[in-house]
Amino acid sequence: MFLADERLISLIFEYCRDRLVLDPVPLDYSRDKATLDRALDGAITAAGNDPDQVMDVFSRVLAPAVVSCDSPRFLAFIPAAPTKAALLFDMVVSCSSMQGTSWLEAAGAVAAENQALRVIADAAGLPPEAGGCFVSGGSAGNLSALMVARETGRHRLGDAAPGRLRIAVSDQAHSSISKALSVLGVDALVVPTHEHRLTGPDLQAALRADPQPGNVVGVVATAGTTNAGIVDDLDGVGQVARERGMWFHVDGAYGGAALFAPSARHRFAGIERVDSLVVDPHKWLFAPFDCASLLYRNPNLARAVHTQEASYLDVIHTDAPDEWNPSDYAYHLTRRARGLPLWFSMAVHGLDAYRDAIETGLSVAREAASLIAARPGLSLVRPPDLSIVLFRRDGWTEADYDGWSQRLLADQIGFVTPTKWEGETVARLAFLHPETSLEIVEEILATMA
Ligand SMILES: *Cc1c(COP(=O)(O)O)cnc(C)c1O
Repeated sequence: MFLADERLISLIFEYCRDRLVLDPVPLDYSRDKATLDRALDGAITAAGNDPDQVMDVFSRVLAPAVVSCDSPRFLAFIPAAPTKAALLFDMVVSCSSMQGTSWLEAAGAVAAENQALRVIADAAGLPPEAGGCFVSGGSAGNLSALMVARETGRHRLGDAAPGRLRIAVSDQAHSSISKALSVLGVDALVVPTHEHRLTGPDLQAALRADPQPGNVVGVVATAGTTNAGIVDDLDGVGQVARERGMWFHVDGAYGGAALFAPSARHRFAGIERVDSLVVDPHKWLFAPFDCASLLYRNPNLARAVHTQEASYLDVIHTDAPDEWNPSDYAYHLTRRARGLPLWFSMAVHGLDAYRDAIETGLSVAREAASLIAARPGLSLVRPPDLSIVLFRRDGWTEADYDGWSQRLLADQIGFVTPTKWEGETVARLAFLHPETSLEIVEEILATMA
């Protein structure tokens, strides 16, 4: 029925081999729907097609219509730069149909994933009993963690719990946080920030001014805002959370990786106080999509909330002391062992290589900021905390930035998209690819003259 012969295997492995060694990776760009539809016409039929033909459509039309986030010229949104070791091991995970749902089925995979999670927990200074699982992304991590925050708060308030609880968030929190709260039926207490950074005093002031601070059961701080790379005052916010018995969640989806960089570690002081933490290895820890780490200080609280009760699942829940079911720590059930590529790459390259690669992104960002500050006609919005640089070109309107962004992509010089800062349209560069050089930055800046 499903014939997979040598020819099919070679076809795919050869494609993968060629893609892995592409240097440089072309940036590419999106194509119009009519072109894609024409190429896809007749691809899925009752009888099937020759794999060569199907791969031809993929490699000639579909793949080039995807901007390569692993190009060193991709500086928009959040780039990706997975290690080859991690990409290759992702193939191993796929070819082994390796899943990572429960200890009963997948102890080997889960043990290795937990070792990688422990590395992140250690970087954050979490206690030995901390743990969690890998989920598909920061959004899934934030939702799962805040579900535990809500239930833990409800439990603590007991009969005094109101119908709807609240969680404090800053006006700079990632869009996935408000989406998670809406899914959870939790209202936000939006805390205004000064200089876009949530501090302990900001949180304290908002709670003092609030008529019902008792129903605010948690707070979310961001360790590296996606727009500007700003790390909140984790120590101050964590302290207020502890005094008031609130759950302290830190969203480090983008910035958390900088925990591994000695030059930036001081910005994360207080992160060891978290009740839950999200760091996306598919962003700045050089893992393939889709991989986010979710850690809890006290995993028992998460297990009490997330364990799925179904009679066919009873067998995966025993009282065995070393049993660890990733399905018990997030809203998911079946999951691929998506932490294994990170584990393999960390094991092969060692953590010093990770530290150096992250420091490289930070230092290119600092040097790019200096170039911008020194260049007539350009000015920095603020010095970068991490690896995101916001700057303006004197006299440019939103349309100027948009046109410039489109030309850069069309000319394959870079993928750079504008953003908003206090209502003003500005340019934004997000660094993390270790091969993004200052020459590329110079080339991009030269197009703004
Ligand atoms: C990227 C990001 C998210 C969302 O993560 P996904 O992996 O895209 O789901 C959440 N928070 C922050 C701060 C982010 O940078």
